[in-house]
Amino acid sequence: MAKVTEHLAASKGKPIFSIEIIPPAKGGKIDELLDAIEPMMELKPPFIDVTYHREEYLLKEQADGSVKEIKTRKRPGTVGLCSAIMHKFHIDPVPHILCGGFTKDETEDLLIDLNYLGIENVMALRGDIAKPYTYFKPMKEGHKYASELVLQIREMNQGKYLHEESEYLSKSDFCIGGAAYPEKHYEADDQNIDFKFLKEKVDAGLDYLVTQMFFDNNRYFEFVKKCRSNGINIPIIPGLKVLATKKQLDVLPKLFYLDMPEEFRSEIDKAKDDKTARQIGVEWCVQQCKELISFGVPALHFYTMSKSTTTMAVARKVF
Ligand code: FAD
Repeated sequence: MAKVTEHLAASKGKPIFSIEIIPPAKGGKIDELLDAIEPMMELKPPFIDVTYHREEYLLKEQADGSVKEIKTRKRPGTVGLCSAIMHKFHIDPVPHILCGGFTKDETEDLLIDLNYLGIENVMALRGDIAKPYTYFKPMKEGHKYASELVLQIREMNQGKYLHEESEYLSKSDFCIGGAAYPEKHYEADDQNIDFKFLKEKVDAGLDYLVTQMFFDNNRYFEFVKKCRSNGINIPIIPGLKVLATKKQLDVLPKLFYLDMPEEFRSEIDKAKDDKTARQIGVEWCVQQCKELISFGVPALHFYTMSKSTTTMAVARKVF
């Protein structure tokens, strides 16, 4: 097994095909998910990201008028799925780990589990806002920002545990990825503030970045230029999503706070049905990939939602 940065170095300038998958909904069958992603193994992704889904809270009014919070998680199983990927496909999994919903001690336990499993990579994230809240609420003994989580992992890599520190404690050796937003993170007041915090996160010890999806390559190019001129020199992997339905033209910008290029929007608007929209989406992404490869990207990372059809339609034309 190897680190993401080692895979990138070994590719000798040829961009890597990598994917992100999501665990099945609770009660779903792991075999169905592994079957669904199997067609993508044809392109031998050296690593596969597995998202982490934080808990949600159902607010139930009680007979006495008080409100009870019921904690539920729609897609548990990130660690088990990572282990299954290692065993079935012999591919490095990259579990996402979150600030949200975790105390620092629980994070430490999770990292120990991953270390025992032989997992060498993690993606350190703050995590989405837990429903039904409208703002991010860290745990009382948890981290508020991804940069704090990165520091905890770095410390463990040096043999410093939360309550123990001794030269006899084993050191983990995680390669750490983090998220970046070429079109700004939605909570940040402006791009410069967001960039300042991104730089802090990188300096805390990130090894590489993966971007939020974008449909306008210029956003990525400008972002990389800004990173390089401000001393962020780690690999910046572009995240890509193939538009698969007409509805996604409006849903994706709302969910991920991104702009759709006018030319793309008008092409999709004219599409008579989802099948036509999908063909346009595939062609748009193929052109994006070709331009990104000419730019010299280290990898093309696809947000697959654990489905292979559209990703493979693009990847077969590109790799
Ligand atoms: P941070 O880097 O902590 O930034 C969050 C916000 O806080 C930003 O606006 C930033 O500017 C600001 N900020 C940072 N530091 C400070 C500071 N010191 N003081 C004040 N403000 C600060 N979500 C999931 O729940 N599960 C997943 O598996 C998942 N995978 C993802 C993978 C990728 C590649 C990406 C791009 C996103 C993913 N997300 C996932 C979504 C992510 O959790 C959300 O976008 C979240 O809102 C921000 O996470 P972050 O790690 O970028 O946060």
